[in-house]
Amino acid sequence: AKRSGRNTFALYDEYMERDAEEQRSLERDLREAVATGQFHLVYQPVCSTHSGEVASFEALIRWCHPVRGHVPPSLFIPVAEQAGLILPIGAWVLETACSEAAAWPRPVRVAVNMSPPQFLQHDLCDQVRRALDRAGLPPDRLDIEVTEGLMLGDEEVVLTNMTRLRAMGVRISLDDFGTGHSSLSYLRRFPFDRIKIDRSFVQNLGVGTEARAIVHSVLSLGRNLKLDIIAEGVETELQLHELRMLRCELVQGYLLGKPMTMDDAVALLRGAAQG
Ligand code: C2E
Ligand code: CA
Ligand code: CA
Ligand code: CA
Repeated sequence: AKRSGRNTFALYDEYMERDAEEQRSLERDLREAVATGQFHLVYQPVCSTHSGEVASFEALIRWCHPVRGHVPPSLFIPVAEQAGLILPIGAWVLETACSEAAAWPRPVRVAVNMSPPQFLQHDLCDQVRRALDRAGLPPDRLDIEVTEGLMLGDEEVVLTNMTRLRAMGVRISLDDFGTGHSSLSYLRRFPFDRIKIDRSFVQNLGVGTEARAIVHSVLSLGRNLKLDIIAEGVETELQLHELRMLRCELVQGYLLGKPMTMDDAVALLRGAAQG
Protein backbone atom coordinates (compact mmCIF):
# COMPACT_ATOMS: atom_id res chain seq x y z
CA ALA A 1 0.00 0.00 0.00
CA LYS A 2 2.89 2.24 0.86
CA ARG A 3 4.53 1.66 -2.51
CA SER A 4 1.41 2.30 -4.56
CA GLY A 5 0.84 5.36 -2.45
CA ARG A 6 4.24 6.68 -3.39
CA ASN A 7 3.65 5.88 -7.06
CA THR A 8 0.39 7.74 -6.98
CA PHE A 9 2.15 10.64 -5.41
CA ALA A 10 4.94 10.54 -8.02
CA LEU A 11 2.39 10.51 -10.82
CA TYR A 12 0.51 13.38 -9.26
CA ASP A 13 3.79 15.25 -8.90
CA GLU A 14 4.58 14.69 -12.56
CA TYR A 15 1.18 16.05 -13.57
CA MET A 16 1.71 19.12 -11.44
CA GLU A 17 5.14 19.57 -12.98
CA ARG A 18 3.80 19.34 -16.53
CA ASP A 19 0.95 21.64 -15.61
CA ALA A 20 3.28 24.26 -14.18
CA GLU A 21 5.53 23.94 -17.23
CA GLU A 22 2.59 24.40 -19.59
CA GLN A 23 1.46 27.36 -17.52
CA ARG A 24 4.89 29.00 -17.81
CA SER A 25 5.02 28.40 -21.56
CA LEU A 26 1.52 29.80 -22.01
CA GLU A 27 2.55 32.82 -19.95
CA ARG A 28 5.65 33.40 -22.13
CA ASP A 29 3.53 33.16 -25.29
CA LEU A 30 0.96 35.50 -23.81
CA ARG A 31 3.65 38.09 -23.04
CA GLU A 32 4.80 37.81 -26.64
CA ALA A 33 1.20 38.12 -27.85
CA VAL A 34 0.78 41.38 -25.92
CA ALA A 35 4.04 42.73 -27.33
CA THR A 36 3.36 41.75 -30.95
CA GLY A 37 -0.41 42.23 -31.06
CA GLN A 38 -1.80 38.75 -31.68
CA PHE A 39 -5.28 39.60 -30.45
CA HIS A 40 -8.42 40.72 -32.20
CA LEU A 41 -12.03 41.25 -31.18
CA VAL A 42 -15.17 39.58 -32.41
CA TYR A 43 -18.66 40.92 -31.77
CA GLN A 44 -21.77 39.03 -30.76
CA PRO A 45 -25.14 40.75 -31.20
CA VAL A 46 -27.65 41.29 -28.40
CA CYS A 47 -31.09 41.46 -30.01
CA SER A 48 -34.55 42.69 -29.18
CA THR A 49 -36.75 39.63 -28.62
CA HIS A 50 -39.62 41.15 -30.55
CA SER A 51 -38.17 43.06 -33.48
CA GLY A 52 -35.05 40.94 -33.82
CA GLU A 53 -33.11 44.21 -34.22
CA VAL A 54 -29.54 44.44 -32.94
CA ALA A 55 -29.55 46.43 -29.68
CA SER A 56 -25.83 46.16 -28.94
CA PHE A 57 -22.74 44.05 -29.51
CA GLU A 58 -20.58 42.30 -26.93
CA ALA A 59 -16.85 42.42 -27.70
CA LEU A 60 -15.08 39.09 -27.13
CA ILE A 61 -11.32 38.70 -27.33
CA ARG A 62 -9.66 36.19 -29.66
CA TRP A 63 -6.03 35.08 -29.57
CA CYS A 64 -4.56 33.50 -32.66
CA HIS A 65 -1.07 32.18 -31.84
CA PRO A 66 1.26 31.39 -34.80
CA VAL A 67 1.81 27.79 -33.58
CA ARG A 68 -0.91 27.04 -31.02
CA GLY A 69 -3.60 28.41 -33.31
CA HIS A 70 -6.76 29.66 -31.69
CA VAL A 71 -6.52 29.70 -27.88
CA PRO A 72 -9.92 30.17 -26.17
CA PRO A 73 -10.30 33.02 -23.64
CA SER A 74 -11.51 30.56 -21.00
CA LEU A 75 -7.97 29.14 -21.13
CA PHE A 76 -5.80 32.24 -21.35
CA ILE A 77 -7.74 34.87 -19.38
CA PRO A 78 -7.10 33.08 -16.04
CA VAL A 79 -3.39 32.80 -16.92
CA ALA A 80 -3.30 36.47 -17.88
CA GLU A 81 -4.92 37.35 -14.55
CA GLN A 82 -2.34 35.37 -12.60
CA ALA A 83 0.60 36.71 -14.59
CA GLY A 84 -0.48 40.34 -14.24
CA LEU A 85 -1.01 40.55 -18.00
CA ILE A 86 -4.73 41.19 -17.79
CA LEU A 87 -4.17 44.94 -17.32
CA PRO A 88 -2.40 45.55 -20.65
CA ILE A 89 -4.76 43.09 -22.38
CA GLY A 90 -7.82 44.69 -20.82
CA ALA A 91 -6.62 48.16 -21.79
CA TRP A 92 -6.15 46.97 -25.37
CA VAL A 93 -9.68 45.47 -25.43
CA LEU A 94 -11.18 48.72 -24.10
CA GLU A 95 -9.31 50.95 -26.59
CA THR A 96 -10.03 48.67 -29.54
CA ALA A 97 -13.71 48.11 -28.77
CA CYS A 98 -14.29 51.87 -28.36
CA SER A 99 -12.53 52.83 -31.57
CA GLU A 100 -14.16 50.05 -33.63
CA ALA A 101 -17.62 50.86 -32.25
CA ALA A 102 -17.13 54.53 -33.10
CA ALA A 103 -16.93 53.49 -36.78
CA TRP A 104 -20.18 51.50 -36.85
CA PRO A 105 -22.90 52.76 -39.19
CA ARG A 106 -25.50 52.80 -36.42
CA PRO A 107 -25.06 54.06 -32.85
CA VAL A 108 -25.62 50.74 -31.06
CA ARG A 109 -23.73 50.11 -27.86
CA VAL A 110 -20.65 48.00 -27.31
CA ALA A 111 -20.19 45.84 -24.21
CA VAL A 112 -16.70 45.14 -22.90
CA ASN A 113 -15.86 42.37 -20.40
CA MET A 114 -13.61 43.39 -17.52
CA SER A 115 -11.70 41.06 -15.18
CA PRO A 116 -11.70 41.95 -11.49
CA PRO A 117 -8.08 43.27 -11.41
CA GLN A 118 -8.92 45.62 -14.28
CA PHE A 119 -12.13 46.94 -12.75
CA LEU A 120 -10.45 47.37 -9.36
CA GLN A 121 -7.86 49.88 -10.66
CA HIS A 122 -8.04 53.24 -8.91
CA ASP A 123 -7.66 55.15 -12.17
CA LEU A 124 -10.15 53.02 -14.13
CA CYS A 125 -12.49 55.95 -14.81
CA ASP A 126 -9.67 58.05 -16.26
CA GLN A 127 -8.67 55.15 -18.48
CA VAL A 128 -12.24 54.72 -19.69
CA ARG A 129 -12.65 58.44 -20.31
CA ARG A 130 -9.39 58.57 -22.28
CA ALA A 131 -10.39 55.56 -24.39
CA LEU A 132 -13.78 57.14 -25.14
CA ASP A 133 -12.22 60.52 -25.97
CA ARG A 134 -9.58 59.05 -28.24
CA ALA A 135 -12.22 57.01 -30.08
CA GLY A 136 -14.76 59.83 -30.15
CA LEU A 137 -17.33 57.44 -28.66
CA PRO A 138 -20.02 58.94 -26.39
CA PRO A 139 -20.01 57.33 -22.89
CA ASP A 140 -23.60 56.14 -23.26
CA ARG A 141 -22.46 53.82 -26.05
CA LEU A 142 -20.33 51.78 -23.65
CA ASP A 143 -21.39 48.92 -21.36
CA ILE A 144 -19.00 47.22 -18.97
CA GLU A 145 -19.65 43.59 -17.98
CA VAL A 146 -18.32 42.32 -14.66
CA THR A 147 -18.85 39.09 -12.74
CA GLU A 148 -19.35 38.36 -9.07
CA GLY A 149 -15.65 37.57 -8.74
CA LEU A 150 -15.23 41.33 -8.56
CA MET A 151 -16.95 41.48 -5.20
CA LEU A 152 -14.05 39.67 -3.55
CA GLY A 153 -12.08 42.87 -4.06
CA ASP A 154 -12.20 46.09 -2.09
CA GLU A 155 -15.87 47.03 -1.89
CA GLU A 156 -15.04 50.76 -1.59
CA VAL A 157 -13.14 50.74 -4.88
CA VAL A 158 -15.89 48.79 -6.64
CA LEU A 159 -18.53 51.26 -5.45
CA THR A 160 -16.46 54.34 -6.31
CA ASN A 161 -15.68 53.07 -9.81
CA MET A 162 -19.26 52.03 -10.47
CA THR A 163 -20.64 55.34 -9.27
CA ARG A 164 -18.19 57.42 -11.31
CA LEU A 165 -18.64 55.37 -14.48
CA ARG A 166 -22.44 55.55 -14.20
CA ALA A 167 -22.26 59.30 -13.62
CA MET A 168 -20.37 59.51 -16.93
CA GLY A 169 -23.19 57.58 -18.64
CA VAL A 170 -21.42 54.21 -18.91
CA ARG A 171 -23.62 51.24 -17.97
CA ILE A 172 -22.58 48.32 -15.82
CA SER A 173 -23.87 44.77 -16.24
CA LEU A 174 -23.64 41.84 -13.86
CA ASP A 175 -22.57 38.92 -16.07
CA ASP A 176 -23.28 35.20 -15.53
CA PHE A 177 -26.08 36.04 -13.12
CA GLY A 178 -27.13 33.16 -10.89
CA THR A 179 -23.89 31.17 -11.06
CA GLY A 180 -22.27 32.70 -7.97
CA HIS A 181 -23.06 32.35 -4.32
CA SER A 182 -24.70 35.62 -3.45
CA SER A 183 -25.98 37.29 -6.59
CA LEU A 184 -28.94 38.74 -4.72
CA SER A 185 -26.93 40.53 -2.08
CA TYR A 186 -24.71 42.07 -4.81
CA LEU A 187 -27.76 43.52 -6.52
CA ARG A 188 -28.74 45.15 -3.27
CA ARG A 189 -25.28 46.54 -2.52
CA PHE A 190 -24.08 47.66 -5.96
CA PRO A 191 -25.80 49.92 -8.49
CA PHE A 192 -25.98 47.74 -11.61
CA ASP A 193 -27.86 48.77 -14.75
CA ARG A 194 -28.44 45.34 -16.21
CA ILE A 195 -28.03 41.69 -15.52
CA LYS A 196 -27.24 38.86 -17.87
CA ILE A 197 -28.95 35.58 -16.98
CA ASP A 198 -26.37 32.85 -17.28
CA ARG A 199 -26.80 30.45 -20.17
CA SER A 200 -27.11 27.45 -17.82
CA PHE A 201 -30.64 28.65 -16.95
CA VAL A 202 -31.56 29.51 -20.53
CA GLN A 203 -30.41 26.11 -21.77
CA ASN A 204 -32.98 24.28 -19.68
CA LEU A 205 -35.93 26.38 -20.79
CA GLY A 206 -38.63 24.13 -22.23
CA VAL A 207 -37.27 21.16 -20.31
CA GLY A 208 -39.50 20.76 -17.28
CA THR A 209 -40.66 23.77 -15.30
CA GLU A 210 -37.77 24.69 -12.98
CA ALA A 211 -35.75 26.76 -15.46
CA ARG A 212 -38.86 28.71 -16.45
CA ALA A 213 -39.63 29.45 -12.79
CA ILE A 214 -36.07 30.69 -12.20
CA VAL A 215 -35.95 32.87 -15.32
CA HIS A 216 -39.41 34.20 -14.48
CA SER A 217 -38.21 35.19 -10.99
CA VAL A 218 -35.09 36.91 -12.31
CA LEU A 219 -37.21 38.85 -14.79
CA SER A 220 -39.62 40.10 -12.11
CA LEU A 221 -36.68 40.93 -9.88
CA GLY A 222 -35.24 42.95 -12.78
CA ARG A 223 -38.52 44.80 -13.30
CA ASN A 224 -38.78 45.64 -9.61
CA LEU A 225 -35.20 46.88 -9.41
CA LYS A 226 -35.51 48.64 -12.80
CA LEU A 227 -32.73 46.60 -14.35
CA ASP A 228 -32.54 45.47 -17.99
CA ILE A 229 -32.32 41.73 -18.32
CA ILE A 230 -30.43 39.95 -21.08
CA ALA A 231 -30.80 36.18 -21.50
CA GLU A 232 -27.55 34.69 -22.80
CA GLY A 233 -26.84 31.46 -24.61
CA VAL A 234 -30.09 31.23 -26.59
CA GLU A 235 -29.57 28.37 -29.03
CA THR A 236 -33.02 27.09 -29.98
CA GLU A 237 -36.36 28.43 -31.21
CA LEU A 238 -37.98 26.77 -28.20
CA GLN A 239 -35.79 28.77 -25.78
CA LEU A 240 -36.52 31.98 -27.67
CA HIS A 241 -40.25 31.20 -27.62
CA GLU A 242 -40.15 30.62 -23.86
CA LEU A 243 -38.28 33.91 -23.33
CA ARG A 244 -40.86 35.75 -25.44
CA MET A 245 -43.67 34.25 -23.35
CA LEU A 246 -41.85 35.43 -20.23
CA ARG A 247 -41.52 38.91 -21.78
CA CYS A 248 -37.74 38.97 -21.67
CA GLU A 249 -36.78 41.87 -23.93
CA LEU A 250 -33.15 41.21 -24.79
CA VAL A 251 -31.55 37.98 -25.96
CA GLN A 252 -28.11 36.83 -27.04
CA GLY A 253 -26.91 33.47 -28.33
CA TYR A 254 -25.94 31.37 -31.32
CA LEU A 255 -29.56 31.35 -32.56
CA LEU A 256 -29.50 35.16 -32.93
CA GLY A 257 -25.89 35.44 -34.05
CA LYS A 258 -22.49 33.95 -33.29
CA PRO A 259 -19.53 36.18 -32.43
CA MET A 260 -18.50 37.75 -35.77
CA THR A 261 -15.72 39.85 -37.24
CA MET A 262 -15.86 43.64 -37.19
CA ASP A 263 -16.67 43.61 -40.94
CA ASP A 264 -19.59 41.23 -40.48
CA ALA A 265 -20.89 43.30 -37.56
CA VAL A 266 -20.82 46.40 -39.77
CA ALA A 267 -22.59 44.50 -42.57
CA LEU A 268 -25.25 43.32 -40.11
CA LEU A 269 -25.84 46.91 -38.96
CA ARG A 270 -26.15 48.02 -42.56
CA GLY A 271 -28.88 45.42 -42.95
CA ALA A 272 -26.89 43.32 -45.40
CA ALA A 273 -27.29 39.54 -45.36
CA GLN A 274 -25.08 37.90 -42.77
CA GLY A 275 -22.25 35.50 -43.47
P1 C2E B 1 -18.91 35.55 -21.23
O1 C2E B 1 -18.61 36.99 -21.00
O2 C2E B 1 -20.00 34.94 -20.43
O3 C2E B 1 -19.20 35.44 -22.80
C1 C2E B 1 -20.12 34.55 -23.38
C2 C2E B 1 -19.42 33.33 -23.95
O4 C2E B 1 -20.40 32.39 -24.41
C3 C2E B 1 -18.55 33.62 -25.17
O5 C2E B 1 -17.49 32.67 -25.18
C4 C2E B 1 -19.52 33.35 -26.32
O6 C2E B 1 -18.85 33.05 -27.53
C5 C2E B 1 -20.26 32.15 -25.79
N1 C2E B 1 -21.60 32.04 -26.34
C6 C2E B 1 -22.39 33.01 -26.86
N2 C2E B 1 -23.58 32.53 -27.25
C7 C2E B 1 -23.57 31.20 -26.98
C8 C2E B 1 -24.52 30.13 -27.16
O7 C2E B 1 -25.63 30.32 -27.66
N3 C2E B 1 -24.12 28.91 -26.73
C9 C2E B 1 -22.90 28.67 -26.18
N4 C2E B 1 -22.61 27.42 -25.82
N5 C2E B 1 -21.98 29.65 -26.00
C10 C2E B 1 -22.32 30.90 -26.39
P2 C2E B 1 -15.96 33.14 -25.39
O8 C2E B 1 -15.88 34.20 -26.41
O9 C2E B 1 -15.17 31.89 -25.58
O10 C2E B 1 -15.59 33.80 -23.99
C11 C2E B 1 -15.57 33.05 -22.80
C12 C2E B 1 -15.38 33.94 -21.60
O11 C2E B 1 -14.08 34.56 -21.64
C13 C2E B 1 -16.36 35.10 -21.53
O12 C2E B 1 -17.59 34.65 -21.00
C14 C2E B 1 -15.62 36.05 -20.63
O13 C2E B 1 -15.77 35.66 -19.29
C15 C2E B 1 -14.17 35.83 -21.06
N6 C2E B 1 -13.80 36.88 -22.03
C16 C2E B 1 -13.99 36.95 -23.36
N7 C2E B 1 -13.48 38.09 -23.88
C17 C2E B 1 -12.97 38.79 -22.84
C18 C2E B 1 -12.31 40.07 -22.70
O14 C2E B 1 -12.12 40.84 -23.66
N8 C2E B 1 -11.92 40.43 -21.44
C19 C2E B 1 -12.14 39.62 -20.35
N9 C2E B 1 -11.72 40.05 -19.15
N10 C2E B 1 -12.76 38.43 -20.45
C20 C2E B 1 -13.17 38.02 -21.66
CA1 CA C 1 -19.83 38.81 -20.93
CA1 CA D 1 -21.88 35.55 -19.48
CA1 CA E 1 -18.26 34.14 -18.04
